[in-house]
This record gives sequence, structure tokens and C-alpha cells, in this order.
Amino acid sequence: MIIASEKQQELLLEVGKLDLSISRVEVELANAERSETIDSLRTRLLATSENLLQAHATSENLSGEIKRIASDVELVEQRIIRDNEKAKQVSSEREQKAVNQELDSLKARLTSLEDSELSLMESLEMANEEIAKITQQRAALNVDLEAELAKQQGQTLTLRAQHTELSEKRNLAFGKLDEELQKLYGRKALRGIAVAQTLGRDCSACRLSINAVQFEAMMAEPADHLPTCPNCDAMIIR
Ligand SMILES: [Zn+2]
Repeated sequence: MIIASEKQQELLLEVGKLDLSISRVEVELANAERSETIDSLRTRLLATSENLLQAHATSENLSGEIKRIASDVELVEQRIIRDNEKAKQVSSEREQKAVNQELDSLKARLTSLEDSELSLMESLEMANEEIAKITQQRAALNVDLEAELAKQQGQTLTLRAQHTELSEKRNLAFGKLDEELQKLYGRKALRGIAVAQTLGRDCSACRLSINAVQFEAMMAEPADHLPTCPNCDAMIIR
């Protein structure tokens, strides 16, 4: 039979309650540090950074193509000017016909180049709109992420402060326990909840019901006796 004064039993109960609170704070801390919202925001930011790289590459390719076509257009235009000059100077009908044919084909080529240029410019405009859109998305995601990180930091700091405060109280109360009770508490705490109370005939640690005979015997014991739960072996403070 464990013997413990009423004062010691109160201390045991206090240590038990503080340890439960400390465990709860530890769970909350772990949850706060493992934020799904933050993970998801980071994943989305990573995805948008890949999209942005892709959009920039597309825009650069289109600009390059437009530049090439523009220089082709220039060459064709120069040849048209030259051929127009030539058309004025040719003497024979045969030569005239040849120059006119070349001019027709150059003009067709020019039209086709200008059509391609126009369509590429439309694509470039779309690519640049995409870049602007992704940049905006990223800015919004960054704002959300910073807010979440600040919130997380606030929660973590509060919980750490609670943890420190509870641990100090717990150690103070634990230090006032008799050495034997400290050892006993330590052994029982390793296996589960060390201290319990009764809720009706239920043990508050294991939530199992203590049978009526054992319960009455337990209640009939002297006040400085410290019974244990027949189910989970927690010390029961009556
Ligand atoms: Zn129990």
C-alpha cells in the first residue's frame, strides 16, 4: 500500500494535471509547426515559379522568331525596291515579264511573312499576359504565405511560453513530493497516466469502470492510503 499525506496527494494530482496540460501543449506545438496551409502555399509557389520560367521561355522564343521574320521582311522589301528599279530599266518584253514574275512572288512572300509576324505578335502578347498573370498569382501567394508564417510564429511563441510556464510549475510541484512518490510517479508516467481521479466508478486515466466491490473497498481505505486503479495502475486520488 502506498502511503501519502493529503498534502502529498494534492501535489500528485497537481503534477498529474500539469503533465497532461504539457502533453496537450506539445501536441498543439507539433500541429502548429506542421501547417498544411503553409505546405500547400509553398507547393503552389513552386508550381507557379516553374510556370513563370516556362512563360518567359515561350515569350523569348516568340520574340526571337519575330526578330528573324522582321529581318526577312526587310530583305524582301529591299528586293522589291530593287526589282521596281529594274522594271523601269529593262528593254525587252521577256525581261519585263521575268521581273514582273519575280515581283509577284516577292509580294506573295512579303504577305505571307507579314501574316506570320502578326500571328506571332498575338502569341507574344498572350505569353506576356500569362507572365503578368503568374507574377500576380505569385505576389498573392507570397502575401498569404508570409501571413501564415507570421501566424504560425505567433502561435508557436505563445505555445512555447505556455510550455515553459507549465514546466516550471510542474517541476516546482514535483520537487515538493517525497522522494519515494517521485520515483513511483516517474515509473508510472513512463507507462501512461500516473495519477487519476474517479468519475463515478470510472477511472479518469483509463476511462474504464472499477467494479463495485473494488470501488467500495477503495473508498473505505484510510485517507492517507493511495489506492491504484485495478485496470491501469494509476494512483487514484479520492
Ligand atoms: Zn485506470
